[in-house]
Amino acid sequence: MKSYQKLLQENKEWAKGKVAVDPEYFDRLSQIQTPEFLWIGCSDSRVPANEITGTQPGEIFVHRNIANMVVNTDSNLLSILEFAVTHLKVKHIIVCGHYGCGGIKAAMSNHDYKQVLNMWLRNIKDVYRLHREELNAIKDEDLRADRLCELNVKEQVMHLAKTSIVQRAWKHEQRPDLHGWVYGLKDGLINPLFEMKAGTHIDELYEYDDL
Ligand SMILES: [Zn+2]
Repeated sequence: MKSYQKLLQENKEWAKGKVAVDPEYFDRLSQIQTPEFLWIGCSDSRVPANEITGTQPGEIFVHRNIANMVVNTDSNLLSILEFAVTHLKVKHIIVCGHYGCGGIKAAMSNHDYKQVLNMWLRNIKDVYRLHREELNAIKDEDLRADRLCELNVKEQVMHLAKTSIVQRAWKHEQRPDLHGWVYGLKDGLINPLFEMKAGTHIDELYEYDDL
């Protein structure tokens, strides 16, 4: 059996198992989607949003990219954010990075990953530059990378707060709360680093007053 055929076979088993426990499972799920959470995570195959949070299909709206970035010009991220906040009306947005992130380590190197990856990693290098003093003081390279994972998550949460999408929902509906988490590949535990409640004031340069 080819490796991808195993996936299809496993899928059949999974669907059969679900219906065996709950005959209405797919009927119910296919009718409506009302997730409470938007998850912005890393594409790394070791950080599956549902599995590590013990949630089921239908509970988390998920976007993943390299190093869980919130990039102001990324129409993919922005359309997901708009849909999740304005239409699905999620109550929480979680940016979840992970210790040992390859994207973070790549951004700390001086290697030329060729233009498209260089372009993406540039966003992480910019986070490093903002916190250069603190990061350079950490001599151990792995610890420095882990601290950059944390600082990066915090910056991406700030980027969410700078969008008119989030600010409009904050003003009119007092949601969503924003969360910055970092998952540990070595122990499977999530470190809840940072929380920004709906309506938090940020640098006034980024606040819109006519939403
Ligand atoms: Zn990663």
